[in-house]
Amino acid sequence: MKKSYKIDVDCANCANKMEEAAKNTAGVKDCVVNFMALKMNVEFEDGADPKAVMQDVLKNCKKVEDDCEIFL
Ligand SMILES: [Zn+2]
Repeated sequence: MKKSYKIDVDCANCANKMEEAAKNTAGVKDCVVNFMALKMNVEFEDGADPKAVMQDVLKNCKKVEDDCEIFL
């Protein structure tokens, strides 16, 4: 399952950090962050609950970049 989320982040470097943090979150199969469009496309593992997984993704992204936001 794939879902797209609107994000807020200040630069391409931090967008990359968010992408890495999301990829390292349990339940996430793959993640691509598009800084120009301020969008995060997340592919979830089979059976993962996107709502629960995205709470962890947000937490992990805030760890690497506290000035970012994901609009869930
Ligand atoms: Zn930055």
